[in-house]
Amino acid sequence: MQSTADVAEETDETAQPEEEAAQSDDEAAQSEDVTAQSGGSGNGGRDEPRPDEQYCSSCGEIIKAEARICPHCGVEQKKSAGSTEKDPGVAALLSGIGFFVPIAAGAGQIYNGQVGKGIAFGLIQAVNVLLVFVLIGFVTFPLVAIYTIYDAYKTAERINEGEIQV
Ligand SMILES: [Zn+2]
Repeated sequence: MQSTADVAEETDETAQPEEEAAQSDDEAAQSEDVTAQSGGSGNGGRDEPRPDEQYCSSCGEIIKAEARICPHCGVEQKKSAGSTEKDPGVAALLSGIGFFVPIAAGAGQIYNGQVGKGIAFGLIQAVNVLLVFVLIGFVTFPLVAIYTIYDAYKTAERINEGEIQV
């Protein structure tokens, strides 16, 4: 006959401690630097200037459009677009006012930034109006008037091309 004590031993054996479920989470936490981008070669390869950018007139690097001096080569940009751009038509139109208001004959020049020249043209035309009374003004007034318009137009163009620094 089996004793009750033997039965008790058998049941104890089934109670084996199993702790295999506690698998370490370290495997999931493998430290992979996914952020390691391939930025070593090629220098980005960005060869299209954005709307606010332009090519340097000297070295061809992409620089800010409003940059007066290239940060790469240090060369001053010929065309500083935007603020200093002059409209030749507007300049000519302003000097054209001189036909009706002689003292404003240099308005286009003043618009271009040549204030002294503009004032001089105005004074010349004021004198020419007076000269009309002695007939010679009939010749000099229209001539100077046309010249101021021509000058205002051409100067604005030359400013835009960088030939003249005002
Ligand atoms: Zn440059």
